[in-house]
Amino acid sequence: MKYKNYLNGQWLEPKSQEYRDVINPSNGQVIGQVPYSNQGDVDKAVAAAKEAFPAWNQLAVEERAKYMQAFLEIIESKLDEFVDIIVGEFGCSRQFATQGHLPLTVNEIKAFLEIVKEYPFQEEKEGYRLVKEGYGVVACITPWNYPLNQIQRKVTPALLTGNTVVVKPATITPLTAILYAQAIDEAGFPPGVFNLLTGSGSEVGDYLAGHPDVDVISFTGSTEVGKGLYEKAATTVKKLVLELGGKSPLVYLKGGDLNSAVKRAMDTVINNQGQTCSALTRLIVPADELTNVEEAVKGYYENKVVIGDPNDPETTVGPLSSEQQFKTVMDYIQIGVDEGAEILIGGSALEDRKHYIEPTVFTKANNQMRIAREEIFGPVLTIIPYDTVEEAIEIANDSDYGLSGAVVGPEEQAIEVASQLRTGNIFVNNAGRNAKAPFGGYKESGLGRENGTYGLEDYLEVKAIFK
Ligand code: NAP
Ligand code: MG
Repeated sequence: MKYKNYLNGQWLEPKSQEYRDVINPSNGQVIGQVPYSNQGDVDKAVAAAKEAFPAWNQLAVEERAKYMQAFLEIIESKLDEFVDIIVGEFGCSRQFATQGHLPLTVNEIKAFLEIVKEYPFQEEKEGYRLVKEGYGVVACITPWNYPLNQIQRKVTPALLTGNTVVVKPATITPLTAILYAQAIDEAGFPPGVFNLLTGSGSEVGDYLAGHPDVDVISFTGSTEVGKGLYEKAATTVKKLVLELGGKSPLVYLKGGDLNSAVKRAMDTVINNQGQTCSALTRLIVPADELTNVEEAVKGYYENKVVIGDPNDPETTVGPLSSEQQFKTVMDYIQIGVDEGAEILIGGSALEDRKHYIEPTVFTKANNQMRIAREEIFGPVLTIIPYDTVEEAIEIANDSDYGLSGAVVGPEEQAIEVASQLRTGNIFVNNAGRNAKAPFGGYKESGLGRENGTYGLEDYLEVKAIFK
């Protein structure tokens, strides 16, 4: 099936008349064709968003929230369709799409809807009125690893705060974005408030980011591309929001619950085939407990890892998202071996199926190795031993990244260690995520925050009216 762009409330063919295949990574089948848009499509999308902005921005927040509430209900009625498409084009297990991707999206939209009810968009201060309102047109450029939620995390707060958006999703997962646009269309948002176009990042993504009528660039993706966006933002002093890569640590402290530490780290490299920016890919453990840790890792692996067709309900590990990602991860496994880290478990690709890699755990690694410093974005965990807690903190912080992290240990000590880690999120023991809390990174993991009040404020201009 050939899909279209969604521009100014209409489904339109690309000006180029060119299309690209969307591939199911688990079997190589073509599952659709999407527009390979050009600069003309971007101009049209941005013009529509610019024209729609003033009225949308002036609409009362309660009215904007009604559209978003209607949209949420449509999403909730299409959960199975989203799961089918996410599994089909991205390749994560049906289990994880159902229990991970979809609830994340539904909960985060609900959280934003609750937050805007309380949020002071206008306040009377002494001698002036403080007003917070939309910036204008937001370019939302998103990656493939959570094809629905990466879009949601930008579009929900941007629209609720009065901005209008142009979305450019990742090339390998455009169908989820198209289903998202269908839900926007059904919810009846005014034309031009939401626009979606598919196409190459280095061509239309680049052009969109630098477009003179774009006011905010909101980007989630690699640190490499993110760094290049400063230049684009400089053209018209655009606001820049960046959610980039990670190499997050889990520090296990003596006396902590080892099984819970192992589960926490392993789950983040097994679920989604490890293609999660906040995955806890460095497991930092006391050197004299290394053998116990290794045994626990093996035990967990045996129970949890079922590699195969992502649609099989038993499967926990599907294929990597693309040929390119598969190659990148296989290269890193070789790099780890060459650097002298020891493979505890996994390490190979499946012979009879393309794009599948066994979850792989390296042990006896050190933090100077590339497998401990660079984001692999695949099912690879690196175990690094430490001697003292001070050293563990040093290793955890010795990273260009600072997105997420965890500490498992005696509660009080774990909180104390957590407070010393230079990272945007940090989980202590069995703590879970909260949809109203900010998500985002220190250092090269990003700029600004998504989710919660901070995520909302990244899309708000601030005005003082003196009277
Ligand atoms: P990517 O190559 O940086 O691509 C992300 C998006 O940017 C895609 O839509 C891509 O389009 C587009 N793009 C590529 N080059 C561009 C350019 N020069 N100008 C404008 N847009 C451009 O990242 P990816 O490989 O898709 O995703 C993996 C990375 O995302 C990892 O590093 C991961 O850590 C990071 N990530 C971070 C978070 C977070 O919240 N911090 C969440 C998820 C992922 P094409 O698809 O057409 O190339
Ligand atoms: Mg890329």
